Amino acid sequence: MQVINELESEVRSYCRCWPVTFTRASGHTLYDSKGNEYLDFFAGAGALNYGHNDPEMKRKLVEYLMEDGIVHSLDMATVAKETFLNTFNEVILKPRQMSYKMMFPGPTGTNAVEAALKLARKVTGRGRVISFTNAFHGMTLGSLSVSGNATKRKGAGVMIGSGVPMPYDGYLGDKVDTIEYLDRFLTDSGSGMDAPAAIITETVQAEGGLRAASTGWLQRLQELCHRHGILHIVDDIQAGCGRTGTFFSFEDAGIKPDIVCLSKSLSGFGLPLALVLIRPELDVWNPGEHNGTFRGHNPAFVTATEALRRWETPELAGQIEAKAATVDTALRAMANEYPELKAQVRGRGLVKGLALRNPKIAPKVREAAFERNLILETSGPRGEVVKLLPPLTIDPDALERGLEIIEESLLAVLDSRVPARASA
Ligand SMILES: *Cc1c(COP(=O)(O)O)cnc(C)c1O
Repeated sequence: MQVINELESEVRSYCRCWPVTFTRASGHTLYDSKGNEYLDFFAGAGALNYGHNDPEMKRKLVEYLMEDGIVHSLDMATVAKETFLNTFNEVILKPRQMSYKMMFPGPTGTNAVEAALKLARKVTGRGRVISFTNAFHGMTLGSLSVSGNATKRKGAGVMIGSGVPMPYDGYLGDKVDTIEYLDRFLTDSGSGMDAPAAIITETVQAEGGLRAASTGWLQRLQELCHRHGILHIVDDIQAGCGRTGTFFSFEDAGIKPDIVCLSKSLSGFGLPLALVLIRPELDVWNPGEHNGTFRGHNPAFVTATEALRRWETPELAGQIEAKAATVDTALRAMANEYPELKAQVRGRGLVKGLALRNPKIAPKVREAAFERNLILETSGPRGEVVKLLPPLTIDPDALERGLEIIEESLLAVLDSRVPARASA
């Protein structure tokens, strides 16, 4: 820890929240250098939906490496890539009657968003992109231009004015229909809004405070995009790959976005991999027009292919639904039991949280939870939401234990007389 404090840039963040040195991890458990065990309700910010070091993915990866499988190949053809493309098509796209071309941008989420924005501009010949309040799409300039957070936007240091923010579902209260509001801007030639290339949206604002859009809102957003000739981009980087209970977070809404961004848990193993799904007619790229050294990394293809096999049967989706119900019940009970918190349960599936009226409380809950060996983070513009992101594969007992620790931590923050437990 000392060497990190001395040598790593001030920009470091998560190691400040959990100031211990981690050594190894398995499933939902992390271990530190002193041998302490932690329950992981953070799951790599959604990059570890299948937990740490999944044994089957690890075996496939090690076998691939021991056979001298290709590791780096830019975007040359490899067996690992062919197998991934086939598996994604057969297991994910075809059963959902979806047809998309697949593009591998650089390996991170923000790389996928940049590629999506660039393509939407090329297809439409327009420059502006509509995004939503409290959106988070990544930290590079294009992604920041469509993100809400003022501090992060300011970090850009240059004008990033091509994004146009509009109110997300519920932003203006229950009585204002934000699709109608947006429609008015797009319809009225006096509104001052130029026709945009695209609208980019998250179905659940995982970083921005865990508000979830309703299925009706998402359907009407798609209809509005079609009516105005605007491309619809869904950033499913955190909410996708099963987090909300289905592989894509928009399946319940029955929509088919023009472009979909995936990353975080796509490789299943925590290896960097990003994917942009493009409606075939929109695939107007020229060869090499968007490029990069690490596009489609073979070890990530190998583990991703294994991760996709978990979606061949409905079993995983059923388990997520059951666990999501457990979390929901527990959070609702906490909100009711401690009315002084004025807590609101937010999110969908296994990305849920408690939004607390007083923004000082959630960070204290995170600290109190860490003292009780539970790793969890906060979300929202003021960090006011206690965010739960357990691995989808967590066993039900560990899930219950984590929920108990959250309640103890809440109590500890509300009443400092309750002593911390020695270990989880
Ligand atoms: C994490 C995230 C990104 C950015 O991904 P990086 O890999 O950090 O660049 C973009 N959109 C959403 C919704 C995310 O959660």
